[in-house]
Amino acid sequence: MTASPSARPAKAFQPKLAFRPLPVPQVDVRGFWGDRAEAVATRTADILYERCVAARMLEQIDPDRPSPGVVIPFHSPSPDEAASAGFTGSTVTTQMFWDSDLGKTIETAAYSLYRRKNPELEKKIDAVIDMYGRLQQEDGYLSSWYQRIQPGKRWTNLRDCHELYCAGHLIEGAVAYYQATGKRKLLDIMCRYADHIASVLGPEPGKKKGYCGHEEIELALVKLARVTGEQKYMELAKYFIDQRGQQPHYFDEEARARGADPRAYHFKTYEYSQSHVPVREQDKVVGHAVRAMYLYSGMADIATEYGDDTLRVALDRLWDDLTTKNLYITGGLGPSAHNEGFTSDYDLPNETAYAETCASVGLVFWASRMLGMGPNARYADMMERALYNGSISGLSLDGSLFFYENPLESRGKHNRWKWHRCPCCPPNIGRMIASIGSYFYSLADDALAVHLYGDSTARFDIAGTPVTLVQASRYPWDGAVEITVEPQAPVEFTLHLRVPAWSSKAKLEINGETVDLEDLTSDGYAAIRRQWNKGDRVRLDLEMPIERLYANPAVRQDAGRVALSRGPLIYCVEATDNDNRLHRLTLPRTAGIEAHDEPDLLGGVVTLSATAQADAGDGWQDGLYRSEPPAKVETRLTAIPYFAWDNREPGEMLVWLRDG
Ligand SMILES: [Zn+2]
Repeated sequence: MTASPSARPAKAFQPKLAFRPLPVPQVDVRGFWGDRAEAVATRTADILYERCVAARMLEQIDPDRPSPGVVIPFHSPSPDEAASAGFTGSTVTTQMFWDSDLGKTIETAAYSLYRRKNPELEKKIDAVIDMYGRLQQEDGYLSSWYQRIQPGKRWTNLRDCHELYCAGHLIEGAVAYYQATGKRKLLDIMCRYADHIASVLGPEPGKKKGYCGHEEIELALVKLARVTGEQKYMELAKYFIDQRGQQPHYFDEEARARGADPRAYHFKTYEYSQSHVPVREQDKVVGHAVRAMYLYSGMADIATEYGDDTLRVALDRLWDDLTTKNLYITGGLGPSAHNEGFTSDYDLPNETAYAETCASVGLVFWASRMLGMGPNARYADMMERALYNGSISGLSLDGSLFFYENPLESRGKHNRWKWHRCPCCPPNIGRMIASIGSYFYSLADDALAVHLYGDSTARFDIAGTPVTLVQASRYPWDGAVEITVEPQAPVEFTLHLRVPAWSSKAKLEINGETVDLEDLTSDGYAAIRRQWNKGDRVRLDLEMPIERLYANPAVRQDAGRVALSRGPLIYCVEATDNDNRLHRLTLPRTAGIEAHDEPDLLGGVVTLSATAQADAGDGWQDGLYRSEPPAKVETRLTAIPYFAWDNREPGEMLVWLRDG
């Protein structure tokens, strides 16, 4: 394992990000996120590999073994494909995107290697990469599905078959693995494949005018361009963004070319893949939620790299639409299982919430890219909401079990699983947590932005001076943050500190002197510009009130209900901590709510408790209805952070309590 190689090719270009995330190895994360990253490095990273093997993924990519054929039952049959000659059955199977699961598994392993050496896992990943090397065709093409399971059909169904999506995830895996280990093999393989893709698809005459039904390749090509310094990959990413939704519609033409009727499309509308209109005309978040988040992430990258304000304007419209009408309080998104995505404004059902782990992870990706344009709590607060709630709920505290859906209410039957026939979420949450350090800080030419708080150490160079910045904090359990700046020599730069919207009162001290925070704050960040000397200390005290949160009355499912939060955490009640069936509980508006430090519970959490009321179940004589309302009895209600639910015995769970 070596440090990130710094050599760039001669024709290197400078990424145009105003604020660049600090690379993963430059941030040591301890405390809350350290525990999570440790679980991923010590357990999840190995588990992901083992479960990919158990799912027979290696048989599919290894050209030296017989092809396993189709090993997973089809779901969501696509009628036009099922009716077409040749391939018998639907093309919609999770097996066709196994390359993506391996790509994300490689990425998780790569980030985890920074934290903990794991020569055995590294050897296994090297072997996977060797298989891809042997599988790659002479012309650079690489897809285990189209080479091994459905040969002869490449580039015939970009709409449904995730061909470029798989390439994207392998590219992201290749970039991360190269950065973590210095090994270029997969990076070179994916550069050859990207060159092949550019020879088949693009704006030039004679090339297909296609793009992927499942976005991902766009943001991956941006990463590839940044790590190789090759502008051509950036251009290809821009082409995919620009071409999306243009008329004549590529997916119509492509369906006709394979003898299918475009009107027989299973999902009926190209909103499903955000290709219903060109991206700059889009103003509603629609369709498959993960696809949407990946598209907007790619758009944000291209907006930044090309200084394209037309994309930026569209992204802000989409951000507004998501965050004011279509986002769960947990940072979950996409309520419907039918399209794995969005339905209509304010439709946020709790028990049936799909809210895929990947979608919240995708929101974190999008928000972090919006921060590339400069510190703005509009994005960072939401990134934090998704990080601490709807995304990490997808991984058990010990790093071994997973959620795909993240509902806000459960009757006790929604439990974590070891693996899924559609295993997209486990490696997605794995790679996000393993790279969490890069979401904490971003660096500009003469500024450092602190987006997230928590025990950590960041190392960076600013104006040619190496600086170490140490955060000491018990965040998210306590809002006190102590930052020590240790430049090698005195250096002037601006330190941007986020002041979260949930903190009504915040106090700032520099070297023991109170500073007027309001004077310094814009867009939710305090900007401290000064010459920093060794040992300078900044103390930020964020008041962390327990809050009762209410939903816009337009949300029918939350009417008459209240949710609890403290700092960045949304809370829920679980059966195991409460004596009564959860739907019978009412939290009076006058109830005092207390916070308790519970170091031995769920790896160490702060719980909330209050005196509540419960509907008494007696006096009904087996009847179903009566004219008398149930009697109320006093009870104690205990709430835990939402992310930690279903880590003990199975039982009911509820976020939105009855408000009394
Ligand atoms: Zn997923």
